[in-house]
Amino acid sequence: MRKIFHFDSPTGLYVADAAVLCCFDHRISLVVRKFLKRQGIERADMIVVAGGAKTLASPRNDFEQDFILEQVRMSIRLHGTKRILVTSHSDCATYGGLAHFKGDRDAEAEHHRGELLRARDLLTENFLNVVVEPYFVKFDGVWQVNQGERLQQTQRDEESDTAGGRKLA
Ligand SMILES: [Zn+2]
Repeated sequence: MRKIFHFDSPTGLYVADAAVLCCFDHRISLVVRKFLKRQGIERADMIVVAGGAKTLASPRNDFEQDFILEQVRMSIRLHGTKRILVTSHSDCATYGGLAHFKGDRDAEAEHHRGELLRARDLLTENFLNVVVEPYFVKFDGVWQVNQGERLQQTQRDEESDTAGGRKLA
């Protein structure tokens, strides 16, 4: 092997602040990072896969759901994870994008609410002593999913982060 890049990474063992399941869509990677920081999550075991919570709620095959559950199991076992964030996002291509909902953002959000609650229930059934938090990531922020209620934005506008003049959080 030949060294081609130098960078000092932390070498200590760690307890994960959370395991985070989210889509690999690059458009939401920054808001997810900002949101985790706002939540006080510095050490996250990131499980980044196409569709995020969809892999648990409505997997494309038998393999997918088991694989993700195993990843969560490993995070709990290896890094003592007690908190699991499950996310999905608006205009996700694995759902056919916003176009699949004919551009109706409310219909899309309502569909994702169901998906996220199903993913949460699956994790709660499989793992004891963990807190599972479902979130829907939109292009204007992150929304917390509550049972039986519409989505609630997690932060007020005045608390939002900005970067490059663009509102992100
Ligand atoms: Zn996606």
